[in-house]
Amino acid sequence: MIIILTNNNDNLRADGRVFNELRPLKIEAGVLEKADGSAYLEIGGNKILAAVYGPRELHVRRIMRPDMAVIRCRYNMAPFSVGERKRPGPDRRSVEISKITADALRPAIFLEKFPRSTIDVFIEILEAEGGTRCAGITAASVALADAGIPMKDLVASCAAGKANGNVILDLSEDEDKEGEADLPIAIMPRSGEISLLQMDGHMTPDEFDKAVDLAIEGCKQISEAQKNAIKDRYGEENG
Ligand code: ADP
Repeated sequence: MIIILTNNNDNLRADGRVFNELRPLKIEAGVLEKADGSAYLEIGGNKILAAVYGPRELHVRRIMRPDMAVIRCRYNMAPFSVGERKRPGPDRRSVEISKITADALRPAIFLEKFPRSTIDVFIEILEAEGGTRCAGITAASVALADAGIPMKDLVASCAAGKANGNVILDLSEDEDKEGEADLPIAIMPRSGEISLLQMDGHMTPDEFDKAVDLAIEGCKQISEAQKNAIKDRYGEENG
């Protein structure tokens, strides 16, 4: 008799993770010479660079704020970041992710310290394997800290969701595509404030609560890796 073990039988996911396990994570701060701040992040098959310029004076009157800095984000997927060459340039998805990234980071920054200024954040997805919006926010937050921008906290981000009927943490690309739901979250771990919560797909209210709790736990683990990246670059006292 042949016994086929599926995800549901052995409780392991296709890549061997248990339900509440993040993919292998690596974060390095200060990887670019010319930007004011930068970070490189890998989580699973994602490879992401974030660069920050600013705060610097903003001359665009239409968006300039006399009482605080504005934050502008550009999320971009490289043409070689996915299996089929991606057409270069912005599309609806990247415009949306750029916007929600700025929204997720904004509450963490002491913007009122820099009136009439801009902080510009560039996120380049070099390779994508699911969860790039969250990984981009996590990397951008480290790049902001690397630029010396005063912040209340480092924003940490990851998704939970549902695939194969199970509520799971940090969906891979396959789990995202084949699964039932995806719930990206960003938090400021010190206060517990949530600065991003999106949901795609279907979950029951009970599953939703479980997914939110899982994503928050994942963000807390990611937050430790962010702090370690800053410590590795600047030493214990500034971490
Ligand atoms: P996120 O990357 O935040 O999970 P989506 O849910 O929109 O955002 O995308 C899920 C995954 O699908 C991405 O991480 C990437 O691996 C893949 N993907 C996104 N856009 C494309 C594209 N244009 N071509 C091929 N794969 C893509």
